[in-house]
Amino acid sequence: MLQPRFILDEWKIIEAGFEPDYTLDSESIFALGNGMMGTRANFEEKFSGNTMQGTYIAGVYYPDKTIVGWWKNGYPDYFAKVLNAPSWIGIDVEIDGETLDLAKCKILKFERVLNMKQGTLLRSFTVMMTNGRTAEIIAHRFISMADPETAAISYSVRITGGTGKLSMMPYINANVHNEDSNYGEKFWEDTQVTVNGSSASVVARTRKTGFVVATAMASELRADGKHVTALPEIVTGNDHAGTRFITSYGDGQTLEVRKYVSVLSSLHHEAAGIDMKAIDAANRAISEGFDILLVKHIDSWNDIWEHGDIVIRGDVEAQQGIRFNIFHLNQTYTGEDPRLNIGPKGFTGEKYGGSTYWDTEAFVFGFDLNTRDSHVARNLLKYRHNHLGKAIENASRLGIGKGAALFPMVTMNGEECHNEWEITFEEIHRNGAIAYAIFNYTRHTGDRDYLAGPGLEVLIAISRFWAQRCNWSVHRKKFVILGVTGPNEYENNVNNNWYTNKMATWTLRYTIESLNWLKSERPADFSRLALSTSLEYSGETELWQKIIDQMYYPECSERGIFLQQDGFLDKELKTVDDLIPAERPLNQNWSWDRILRSVFIKQADVIQGLYFLADEFDEKTIRRNFDFYEPRCVHESSLSPSIHSVVAARLNDIDRAYKLYLRTARLDLDDYNKEVREGLHITSMAGTWLAIVEGFGGMKIVSDKLCFNPVIPASWESYSFIVRFRNNPVKVEVNGKYISVKNIATGEVPVAVFGSEIVIAPGKDHIFYK
Ligand code: BGC
Repeated sequence: MLQPRFILDEWKIIEAGFEPDYTLDSESIFALGNGMMGTRANFEEKFSGNTMQGTYIAGVYYPDKTIVGWWKNGYPDYFAKVLNAPSWIGIDVEIDGETLDLAKCKILKFERVLNMKQGTLLRSFTVMMTNGRTAEIIAHRFISMADPETAAISYSVRITGGTGKLSMMPYINANVHNEDSNYGEKFWEDTQVTVNGSSASVVARTRKTGFVVATAMASELRADGKHVTALPEIVTGNDHAGTRFITSYGDGQTLEVRKYVSVLSSLHHEAAGIDMKAIDAANRAISEGFDILLVKHIDSWNDIWEHGDIVIRGDVEAQQGIRFNIFHLNQTYTGEDPRLNIGPKGFTGEKYGGSTYWDTEAFVFGFDLNTRDSHVARNLLKYRHNHLGKAIENASRLGIGKGAALFPMVTMNGEECHNEWEITFEEIHRNGAIAYAIFNYTRHTGDRDYLAGPGLEVLIAISRFWAQRCNWSVHRKKFVILGVTGPNEYENNVNNNWYTNKMATWTLRYTIESLNWLKSERPADFSRLALSTSLEYSGETELWQKIIDQMYYPECSERGIFLQQDGFLDKELKTVDDLIPAERPLNQNWSWDRILRSVFIKQADVIQGLYFLADEFDEKTIRRNFDFYEPRCVHESSLSPSIHSVVAARLNDIDRAYKLYLRTARLDLDDYNKEVREGLHITSMAGTWLAIVEGFGGMKIVSDKLCFNPVIPASWESYSFIVRFRNNPVKVEVNGKYISVKNIATGEVPVAVFGSEIVIAPGKDHIFYK
C-alpha cells in the first residue's frame, strides 16, 4: 500500500500546496468531463511549467498515419487518435502588465479541490507579484452534466497592496496539437473565427475525418459580486478569439470574469451555421447565469450519486477510492449514444488514442449493466453489432471467411486501428469478452429479444471465427489455438493460451444453447436468423460441438493448475518477492526481451478466465490457480488488481482481497503504476466497482436469481451499493452481522443470500444473517 498523496476525504480530492513536479499528475486526477467532452485540469491562466493541454470530445478522432518498422500484409491502415480539441478554458491574466503564471510568480498559498459530489473543480491560490501586490485567485469550473454541451468558469481576482490595472482575457484557442501525433502533424484545419458582440466562436474541422467542432464563449465582468457593463476588446487571429476586459482595481476589490462555453460538434449538429448555433448556446448560458447552471449541474450529479453511490463506513481511504472511480466513470460515458464508447483514458489523456478496447465488455460492461437503465448496456452491445460488417471484413483480411467476425482489439469505428501485431492480430480473446457481454446482458436484464436478433448474429459470427481460427493437431489429437497473445501482454505469440481456448469453447457452447433455445421457442425468429446469417445449422453446430468436446487446454496435473500457455512451466518460476523493488514497474525498467521470457504476468489471465467462468470450477481448483498465479502477477496493467481482488474475496482471502482492492481503487490517486501523468485508467475503474460488488458483495446471477455471498474487510463497519436485476434497482447493505437487501424498484426481485431464497416485493427489504 502506498502513502496517499492527497488528503483523505470522503467526497473530495484535495491538493494542498503547489507541487511543480506533479502538475501533470494533477491535471489527470482533477480532470472534468460529462460524457460528451472532457478536459484535463489545465490552468485557466498562462502556465509555462510542465503541462499537457488536453480537451477531448467524444467521438471526434483522427486516423493518424502509422509508424511501423516493417509493414506486413493485414496491418491496419491507421492508428486512431482522440483529438486534442480547441481549448475553452483559457483566461489570460495580467496584473499591472505582469502575466500571471504559477511557474513564475511567488506562490503564497495554493489549494485545488475536486468536489466529486458536485462535479466541480475549485482552485484557490495567492501569489505575490513583483511589484509587491498580492493577488488571491479563485477559479471555479464545471462541465455541465445537465446540459452536455455547456461548461462554465468563474475566475475571480482580489488584489491587495495598492491600486492598478487588471486585464483578464477569456479566449478559445484552436491552435492545439496532439502530443501523440505520430508525425507531429496538425489534425485540425479550416479554422473559422466568428465574433458577435462580446461573444465569439472558433470552428475547426478535422483533417481526413471531417468532424466539425464549434467552441463558443460569452463572458461577463463582475466587480465585488455585481455585473459590470463593460465592452471588452476583441482579440482574434486565425484560430483563436478572445475578449479582453481591462479595468482598474481598487485595493482589496474582487474582480471576476464569468466565462460561459458551448461546444457543439457535427456528430450532433449540421456543420452549416454551427458557429452561430454555438454562440447562441453560449449566450443562452450567460443569460441563465453561473449559479443556475451550477445548481442544475449539481442536481444531475445528485441523481447519479443517488443511484450509483457506494458507501463504505469506517475506512475513508477505501471510500475516497471508490467514489473517485465512480465519479470518473460517470464523467466519461453516459450511455445515451450507441456511436460512443469508453476509451481506457476517457477524457484525461491521449494514450490509447481514446479508442474502444476489450476493456469495455470485460470490465465496464458490468458497471453499466448494474448502475444504469438497461438501455445503456444495450447501447454498448449495439455499438459492436453496428460494427459487425467491419468485423467480418477484418477477419477476412486475416484469411478467415464464411461470415466469421474478428472484432478489432482497438477501434473507433469498427476498423482495427492499432499497429502492434501482438495486440492487433493476436489478442483474439477480445471476441470472447464481446460474446460474454451478450450473455451477461441477457441474464441480467432478462431481455431475450436482443439475443434473438442482433445478439445471435454477433455470436454466430464470433463462433465461426473460433471454428476456423483453431486447428486440429494430429500430434495431440485435439483442437489447438496457436499464435495468440492472451490478456497477459507480457507473453506474445504463444500457443494455447488457456484463457483464449476456454473463452472460445465457452462462446461456441453459449451460441449453440442460444440457437437451440431460439429454434424451439421462437421458430420464426430462428428461420429469419438462419436466412440472414446463411446458417447451416446442423453442419456448423456439429463442428462447434466437436471443437468444444476436443479442445486442448494446457494444464499441469501435478500442481493441479491450468497453464497460461503451453510453455509456461519452462520459465524460471520466480515470484514477485524475488524482484528488486527499484526495478518495478518492469515495463519501465526491463528490456522487452527479458519481460517476454520472464514468468511475471502483467495482468489476470488464467485468473481472468476463472473470474468469468467461476461456476465451472470448484473452489479448490480456483484456489490452487490463484495461489500459483497471484504471486507472479506484477499487476502492471491497471485492469489486473480488481479481478484478482474479486477472486480473492470469493476465496474468502479477505486481507488479500482488501490490499488488491486498495490497489485498484487508488491506482491513480496514489499512482501505483507511475504513469498517472499520462491520464487516468478509466476502464479499470469499473473493475474497482466489480471488486466491491462481485468481490466483497459476492454478487452473482444464478438460475435467474440475484445472489449475494458477502464478506467484509476487517476495517469496514459497513458498505452499501445498488445493483439492478431485470432493470429493478436493489440496495444492498452489508455489515459484520447481517446483510440487508432492499427492493427500491417497482417489480419483484428474486434474491438468494447465503443460500436462502426469497422474492422481495417492491419497496420491501429483507435482512439475512449469516
Ligand atoms: C492492457 C490491455 C488493455 C489496454 C487498454 C493494456 O495495458 O494490457 O488488456 O486492453 O491496456 O486498457
